[in-house]
Amino acid sequence: MSPPPLDLHAHIDAAIAANDLMALGAVVFGATRTLDEAAQALQRDDVTAIWGVGCHPAEVRAHRDFDPRRFAALAAESPFASEIGLDGAAKVPIETQRETFEAILNFLAEKPRITSIHSYRATAEVLNCLEAQPIRGAILHWWLGDAEQTTRAVELGCWFSVNASSVRRGVLKLIPLDRLLPETDHPFGDRSNGKSARPGNVASVERSIGAHHNLDSAVVRNLMWSNLADLVGAARCASLLPRPIRLQLMASSHPAF
Ligand SMILES: [Zn+2]
Repeated sequence: MSPPPLDLHAHIDAAIAANDLMALGAVVFGATRTLDEAAQALQRDDVTAIWGVGCHPAEVRAHRDFDPRRFAALAAESPFASEIGLDGAAKVPIETQRETFEAILNFLAEKPRITSIHSYRATAEVLNCLEAQPIRGAILHWWLGDAEQTTRAVELGCWFSVNASSVRRGVLKLIPLDRLLPETDHPFGDRSNGKSARPGNVASVERSIGAHHNLDSAVVRNLMWSNLADLVGAARCASLLPRPIRLQLMASSHPAF
């Protein structure tokens, strides 16, 4: 039997009913934008959703309320840091963004997490920060860097989560198959899915990856789990994941193909 779909980056209301989350039929990584949102989400006890500790680079409030000690306290309870990063189109001054991002990277260098990083119009700057403060378990989400930047990111040990929108921009040509992960970035990255857009629905992304690499969807699904198993192994944060997901990752460590 195939493991469930993986969605490495989705925005979900932290007050969603537990049954609605289970009904998605997917393992979903819920990105939060502020520490307050993270604090609310981390009170939940879901087995198919992993809630992140985030500080969205383009959110004024996220920076205003950022406190590295509070970030550390929340991140002690979660294997997922998301979302963090830099945004070159945001109103928040880039200096402020860099200060917050660097403080978070300092924490993650000591205590790695599955880390989903935003780099809209700031791909080179994000790589500069990661070069200055390398971390394990970094995922560049909705990555739109060029070939040279992608090579730099691969050398830095990054993974890449791709969505329905980014695969249409040709990123699959640039990213090695063993560094790929699927995401929706619901409700932003999956707009082209129309009425079927929902967290965890990565079917069109899996199809695109399959078409690009000439693999059927079941193989793609297993590969995505095995990529996540590699990432979690690198970040050594498995103990913070819900037990069913930990077991699935152990089963996925050696793909049968
Ligand atoms: Zn996001």
